[in-house]
Amino acid sequence: MAPPLNVVVVGGGPAALATLQALRDYAGGCVQLTVVAPENDTDAVRARARALRADLFGGRVGAVDAGHHEVSLLDGRRVAYDALVVAVGARARVAYTRARTFFGQAGTVALDRLLADLHDGHTRSLAFVVPPGVAWSVPLYELAIQAGTEARAAGLDIPMRLLTPERTPLELFGERARLAVDPLLDAAGVTFRGATTVTELPGGVLREGRTGARFVRERVVALPALDGPSLPGLPATFEGFVPVDAYGAVRGMVDVFAAGAATAYPVEQRDLAEQQAGTVAAVLAQRAGACVTPEPWEPVVRGHLLAGRGRSLVLDRDALARSRTLLRGAALDGR
Ligand SMILES: Cc1cc2nc3c(=O)[nH]c(=O)nc-3n(C[C@H](O)[C@H](O)[C@H](O)COP(=O)(O)OP(=O)(O)OC[C@H]3O[C@@H](n4cnc5c(N)ncnc54)[C@H](O)[C@@H]3O)c2cc1C
Repeated sequence: MAPPLNVVVVGGGPAALATLQALRDYAGGCVQLTVVAPENDTDAVRARARALRADLFGGRVGAVDAGHHEVSLLDGRRVAYDALVVAVGARARVAYTRARTFFGQAGTVALDRLLADLHDGHTRSLAFVVPPGVAWSVPLYELAIQAGTEARAAGLDIPMRLLTPERTPLELFGERARLAVDPLLDAAGVTFRGATTVTELPGGVLREGRTGARFVRERVVALPALDGPSLPGLPATFEGFVPVDAYGAVRGMVDVFAAGAATAYPVEQRDLAEQQAGTVAAVLAQRAGACVTPEPWEPVVRGHLLAGRGRSLVLDRDALARSRTLLRGAALDGR
């Protein structure tokens, strides 16, 4: 009997865990699994690794040595693979120095902080800004709608606006989403300013691209900008993301795959990361001898917008055609 395929998965987030889970489901004992995740993530990963009979290395991969079929960790250890799955995510960074950056804090921490600021009386107006290149804007809509709703309920009259490169609210989800989100923004007192790119001038002054208007007294809350991992040994786009084909194979490499936010698909979202991981797992399971027929990854964008006070909006449609148009040049094969 052939020895099990030795698959090394790098990362401890949704894409890595979904890859491990799907590989064990599809291929059972035909694969030997190893996961490499940074020490601070290993508590969360350990239980899953144990349940999936995966070996766990606590540490950060510093480079891929494709010639030797190994990854090297920053502490000098090396881990050999038959097939490698890189799922190290994107790197979120502050897009505007004078804005408060919303990194997706758990629970209501960001909203609570924002509301505390509104109540202290120093905030006269508030702008929510989606930086250029960020396609997954739902978290900022949630924050804006919830902040506006709570401010109104508290009797605070604070002008709020949401500035975004999207032409319509949640453009990724099309016209139906716009029709659903418009009234939520209205009711929350948040003015939508679409097709707007905000840039930062030297000295931290923010400027609206379309009108050239500067932000003077407004408090600003922004999503982070995202860079790719730029992992040595892997090809990268200009922004550092890993280019892959529709099966998650890294372009120009043998036995190296990538999934999730590290890849050069322009919408960073957990569900998409897990879909892509499932495709990679199917490819590797077939290679390991399992009876699985991998299908090319067809991203289906779905979401959920939490509007606060028990209200939520399901964003679910066949967004494929739309997202391909919106994300020009991002069709799977040309990524
Ligand atoms: C502000 C913000 C809000 C968001 N809100 C939502 C939301 O509401 N809903 C949603 O679906 N998505 C949301 N997302 C997107 C979501 O977080 C990502 O799409 C998802 O986490 C991608 O999963 P991933 O596993 O590819 O990457 P990550 O979740 O980033 O995981 C990467 C993993 O790799 C590890 N790693 C990194 N470098 C190395 C290395 N060199 N060696 C080993 N391990 C490494 C990291 O420690 C981490 O464990 C949000 C993103 C942001 C920035």
